[in-house]
Amino acid sequence: MVFDEVGRPLRPAEREAPTAGPGQVLLRVHACGVCRTDLHLMDGEVDVPEPPRVLGHQIVGTVDGGAQRVGVPWLGWTCGECRYCTSGRENLCPRARFTGRDIDGGMAEWAVADERYCFPLPDGPSDTDLAPLLCAGLIGYRSLTMCGDAPRVGLYGFGAAAHIIAQVLRWQGREVYAFTSPGDAAAQGLARELGAAWAGGSDERPPEELDAAIVFAPVGALVPRALSALAPGGTVVLGGIHMSDVPAMPYELLWHERSVRSVANLTRRDGEEFLAIAGRAGVRTHVTTYPLERANEALDDLRAGRFTGAGVLVPPGGGR
Ligand SMILES: [Zn+2]
Ligand SMILES: [Zn+2]
Repeated sequence: MVFDEVGRPLRPAEREAPTAGPGQVLLRVHACGVCRTDLHLMDGEVDVPEPPRVLGHQIVGTVDGGAQRVGVPWLGWTCGECRYCTSGRENLCPRARFTGRDIDGGMAEWAVADERYCFPLPDGPSDTDLAPLLCAGLIGYRSLTMCGDAPRVGLYGFGAAAHIIAQVLRWQGREVYAFTSPGDAAAQGLARELGAAWAGGSDERPPEELDAAIVFAPVGALVPRALSALAPGGTVVLGGIHMSDVPAMPYELLWHERSVRSVANLTRRDGEEFLAIAGRAGVRTHVTTYPLERANEALDDLRAGRFTGAGVLVPPGGGR
């Protein structure tokens, strides 16, 4: 499924299977998650430098169609030489290339990936259950680490990332406060099922002050709202790649050492840490699956909030 230009749906195309170059692996794709970032790419809010491009950056596949199952995340290549790469911050590498943006991604039957950016995956869970861990889980985890050891954590936007991170927070013994679109009873129900202490609309105030909040929804107006729910010293972490403008706000919302920060991409270390934690915490994803050729429907449903949890595409023969 190919992205051609902003404002157009993805186009089904028949292509020759790609071939792996030095240091790369050819993957038979078994599943690929859809992500809010895919919508930002299709809407032109995040640039796709060289279309046409196969999107998709939560790939579960097997190397050369064999038994070894690996996952490919958004970070697809870094230079290894710059001051960010050499100081444990490869997520900020200015030359980084991203899967499904600069490199053809997983909305396909085959994909080529740099072998250094493939994570070994555990045997137990299904392909479709694992796919959302590779962006929703991973970027969610990096956002979570920015919250320090905050005991009460608010999650604004209870979709793919939040439903995974809520499970990690509960396993760590912390309280989860889930904020959904006003009136989204299905997402609030899922949050309570996963152990949230409270679930309500993003226009509501939580019953307790929060020590940290992660904003996953791409809505800048949530920044002052999340700050106003925060105890002194608390942090608001912005987990998305794009957000509508943050409105002007009184300094009082930041006063008392409250802070706001963004999270960009991931490092391979985040991936190794998170996949280990997800296994120990017994994270179970809630997925809605679509055949690959219905990618546009999956993306429309994501945009409209028609499924809870995560959406995953399955190519022909995939999805064990
Ligand atoms: Zn993503
Ligand atoms: Zn670099």
